[in-house]
Amino acid sequence: MTTRSQILIAVALAFAITLQGRAAEEPFPAHKVAGNTYYVGSKALATYLITTPEGHILINSGFEETVPLIRVSVESLGFKLRDVKLILASHAHSDHVAGHALLQELTGAKVLVMEGDDQVIAKGGEGQYLYTTSRWKKCPVDRVLKDGEEVKLGGVTLVARKTPGHTRGCTTWTWQETDRGKAASVVVIGSPNVNPGYRLIDNKDYPEIAADFAKTFEILKGLKCDVFLGAHGDYYGMQAKYETSQTNAARSSNPFVDPEGYKAYVDLKEKAFRKTLADQTAAKSQR
Ligand SMILES: [Zn+2]
Repeated sequence: MTTRSQILIAVALAFAITLQGRAAEEPFPAHKVAGNTYYVGSKALATYLITTPEGHILINSGFEETVPLIRVSVESLGFKLRDVKLILASHAHSDHVAGHALLQELTGAKVLVMEGDDQVIAKGGEGQYLYTTSRWKKCPVDRVLKDGEEVKLGGVTLVARKTPGHTRGCTTWTWQETDRGKAASVVVIGSPNVNPGYRLIDNKDYPEIAADFAKTFEILKGLKCDVFLGAHGDYYGMQAKYETSQTNAARSSNPFVDPEGYKAYVDLKEKAFRKTLADQTAAKSQR
C-alpha cells in the first residue's frame, strides 16, 4: 500500500470515528501470544487469530473500521485473511462485533455465536440491553452455540463457555496451546464488567442480570488458566506484556502466561460486581 493511500485511509478512519464520538482506533503490532495463537487486534480492541493447517479462527471483528487493521496484522504475520474459516465473538457489543458482516464478506468464513447474543448479531445490534440505539451491519449467524459446546478446526478444539451478564450470550473462550513445549490453557474472558448504567436489581429489560453475573464469576473461578487474555487488551495488561515479550527476558518465560494475574483480575471484577449490587440494593431500601 502506498503512503498516500495509507494517509487517505487514516483520515477517513479518523473522520468516521470522530463522527461517532469514540476514541480513535489505533493500530498495534501483531504478535504471537503462545503456540499458534496471535494478537491481531487494534490497541484497544482485542482480536485473536488461531492458525491451523485447515484454515484459521478469528475471535472478534471490532468495529467495521477495525477490520482493515486486522487484515494488516494477519498479513504481517504471514497469514492470509481469506484462510479464515471461523469467526467467533466475545460478546454482542459494537466494539467486538460491528465488523462481523464485513469480515464475513472478506473471508467467506462461518459465523458462530453463543445463544443469547445470536439474534443481536443477526439483527445488527437490535435487542441489546441498555444500548438500545446502537446499530451496525446485520451479520447472518451460521451456528448458534450452547454453553460448553466445542468448536473444532484443523486439530484445534475451542470450548465456548457462556458467561452472561455483560450481555446475555457473553462468551469466554478456552483452548489448549503449547508454549515452549509445555501444555498451556488459554482463556479469553468475554467480559466480567458491570458497565455504567447497568441495573442489577429491578431490571425489566434483563431481569436475570445479577444471577447471570454471579454464575459467570463461578465459571471464571473454575477455569484453569495459564495464558490470560480478554476482549480488551487492558483486561490483562496487553501493552506491558507485549513490551516484555520483546525483551531478552521473554526467552526464559512468556509474559502472556499469567495464571496469578488471571485469578487477581477475576477476583477484582467479582468484588466490583458485589459492590455495585450492594450499592444498588442499599439505594433501593432508602427510597
Ligand atoms: Zn461490552
